Amino acid sequence: MAKRVFTFKRGSAERPADASEALGLKGANLATLASLDLPVPPGFTVSTLGWRQSMTAHGEVSQSLRSEILSAVEWLEQTTGRVFDGKTRPLLLALRVGARAPMPGLADTILDIGLNDRTVETFSTELGDPAFAFRSYRRFIESFALLVYGADPGEFEDIADDERDRAGWGGAEPATVPQWRALIARDLAFLEEELGHAFPQTPFEQLIAVVEAAFSSWRGPVARAFRVLHGISENAGLAVTAHAMIFNERGEKSGTGRAFSRDMATGRSLLTGEFELRGRDDAREIGERGTMLDLSVGDDTRFPGDLAALSTYVRRIEAHFGDACEVDFMVGDGALFLLQSRPARRGIAEAIRVAVDMVREGLIDEEEALLRIDPASLDQMLHPTIERAENLDILARGLPASPGAASGEIVFSAERALELAGEGRPSILVRTETLPDDIHGMHVTEGVLTVRGGTTSHAAVVARGIGKPCVTGASALRINLDAQTLTAAGRVLRAGDRLTIDGATGDIIAGACKLTTPSLSGDFATLMEFADRARRMAVRTNAETPAEARAARAFGAEGIGLCRTEHMFFEGGRVGAMREMILAGSEEGRRAALARLLPMQRSDFVELFEIMAGMPVTIRLLDPPLHEFLPKGEGEVAETALALGIPEKVLAERIETLQEFNPMLGHRGCRLAISYPEIVETQARAIFEAAIEAGERKGKDVVPEIMVPLVGLRKELDFLKARIVEVAELVQAERRRRVSYHVGTMIELPRAIIRADTIAEVADFFSFGTNDLTQTVYGISRDDAANFMSTYERHGIIDRDPFQSIDVEGVGELISIGVEKARRARPDITLGICGEQGGDPASISFFEQVGLDYVSCSPFRVPIARVAAAQAAIRFSRGSRGSGKARARG
Ligand code: PEP
Ligand code: MG
Repeated sequence: MAKRVFTFKRGSAERPADASEALGLKGANLATLASLDLPVPPGFTVSTLGWRQSMTAHGEVSQSLRSEILSAVEWLEQTTGRVFDGKTRPLLLALRVGARAPMPGLADTILDIGLNDRTVETFSTELGDPAFAFRSYRRFIESFALLVYGADPGEFEDIADDERDRAGWGGAEPATVPQWRALIARDLAFLEEELGHAFPQTPFEQLIAVVEAAFSSWRGPVARAFRVLHGISENAGLAVTAHAMIFNERGEKSGTGRAFSRDMATGRSLLTGEFELRGRDDAREIGERGTMLDLSVGDDTRFPGDLAALSTYVRRIEAHFGDACEVDFMVGDGALFLLQSRPARRGIAEAIRVAVDMVREGLIDEEEALLRIDPASLDQMLHPTIERAENLDILARGLPASPGAASGEIVFSAERALELAGEGRPSILVRTETLPDDIHGMHVTEGVLTVRGGTTSHAAVVARGIGKPCVTGASALRINLDAQTLTAAGRVLRAGDRLTIDGATGDIIAGACKLTTPSLSGDFATLMEFADRARRMAVRTNAETPAEARAARAFGAEGIGLCRTEHMFFEGGRVGAMREMILAGSEEGRRAALARLLPMQRSDFVELFEIMAGMPVTIRLLDPPLHEFLPKGEGEVAETALALGIPEKVLAERIETLQEFNPMLGHRGCRLAISYPEIVETQARAIFEAAIEAGERKGKDVVPEIMVPLVGLRKELDFLKARIVEVAELVQAERRRRVSYHVGTMIELPRAIIRADTIAEVADFFSFGTNDLTQTVYGISRDDAANFMSTYERHGIIDRDPFQSIDVEGVGELISIGVEKARRARPDITLGICGEQGGDPASISFFEQVGLDYVSCSPFRVPIARVAAAQAAIRFSRGSRGSGKARARG
């Protein structure tokens, strides 16, 4: 039988091979800390294998697992010199639950397992602190009843209220031992009489019951929803870790803290964090607030443990993991214990600063620094800041807890934030303090403001993790939930009023402020240089407007991979000419409308070419699903008829004939240009004339790339390419200048993949249009997919929406085939991708493997794509070095 229970104590730990899989994050981390000879409480972890076997036995711990746990308890008794149910020095345990990834909804930590009617008396005598002993026992009974029997916490409050009145103890809790005994006797009677369960008085039975209930918490609704959302397998499972209790809540020399190995604001190596003296979980409830110490002050006269030792331990952990870390610790009667370490949770700006600093300090190399960065979270760097020149109406100041500024309507609940998000209205979530239940609201709100909490509070940690601006500890504010108001310095704001927070300064400002996007210099720029050195694929952008093109260049785009020309006509003044062209009943009518479109196109292209300054610019011929441009509703039809100078009835008939059952698979793409070659002629002319003009102005040749959409047949491309070449000859003759240009096609139909070799013979480049390719491979309309894709994800039928992240097995397999055929027919062909998946890190990793030359994505995803492409190249070269794999490309 494989081992399922693993013990640890300072200096030694039993470890299975795949520790974080088998022991969960917490268990594996404690084992590591123990092996590093750091002061951890001794204990043991029941592995995910134990969980799996128990779940197949309806959640029951088997006899053999019971004996393994019993042996571990006996080992723990010897190690601690304490005994479960002992007549002196009773052993008490804390039990923590951990999965391979942090997950909400699992059972909370259970403390003081081992207390019963007998040991509470012994414990009380041992400590000389009856109130502490009985309070602990009552808390254990209550948390046991909640976890194991699903009791309601309100019941215990009622019992206490009732007993207070009966026994007349007046204060928050009993004043004498007999009063405590009487209260606890009522709790136990309640369990037996109302819930039908006698509270187990045998510590080992308590432990087994807690383990079984903790195992079952995996199946709770919150944990399950989280797994679906994050694609975690139902079978991954959890582990439970039991360790000797640390009495961090008792006496002057006790407390709980969290330490960081670095100053997370500057990246400097320095012990920082907070310590709450005599911190109690229920401190607020019993009316005694702990005192916060700032660890960076280094005040070891007030810190009850050994601060220098803590600093050494934290540094040792950072050196071991090679990453800035945060460490949860406790001090119990002056003795320091570490409970868990993890990579320091920080905003992306800090992560970049630390990674770049570590390269400067010679601790890691550029590749390692790149691999430390979650590319998706670079998004947060593009957060706006407040324009400081304004006269700001600053209401109050809190702690700067997560960078970025945000404005929105005040909401006091996560639910309201969700409602507003549904209506597209930005909000600021204002709470006294956030709870795990608020997470869904934090995801959709613009920013989070809390009255309580420090920079390591739940709100701060979560906000930094998800990149939301956050201000905490704004103690000058008062929230009145009944009245739905927020009061600051005598000013009253209501739900729905606008508020701005600045997570970098802690400012809380009345009203909405003007926000600007920061410049991407300093460490960010350095990291991008690392990425540019490491990556193989180029990163281009999908852009049509000058503003998009400029933004993309600022983000480091190396050209335009897709200019959707139809998008250049969405604007007010232009849509008329476009409609006129589409609705024209004859070639002359179309040519007249096109003549009006030509100068607009030409000047747009000149501008794009100039902004891109010699970088490749791929311009796609018109590919509009026509319905997007047709006037809708009577009003618009009447207006258009007037503008076109034709009777409304005639126009209505024309619109009728243009209606398609499925416009996305209808008269669009190259089919349109084949039906109406005057379109391709006009567009090609605009492109060539613009290339000459921009080239002359800049004194540098522009080499446009003309891209034909939705090709399935080689002859479609032949037909259109011939027209493009004709126009090129004409324009060159007229202007007496030569223009170099490329003609290529989008590959977005399965037939184009199958015939990629023959199509490649006449194409200078391919760009995989993975939006349409996914649509046509799946036979799922891209505009209707959202309605059921989330259901598919929920049921685990797909891991991720294939319209967002490439379906490697299906669509990806076809792309590999297309790449292989294209390169065989034309080794020098340029291959890229310009569908939505071009900005998705997982997809980028796949595009690296098949050997594409570039990815093209929306401007704001360019930095993400640069880092993702670098990571993909690093991982690919490391993997292929190991396995001898070669990229598809020769
Ligand atoms: C595609 O189909 O992937 C593509 C980029 O083109 P569009 O989204 O414009 O159809
Ligand atoms: Mg397409």
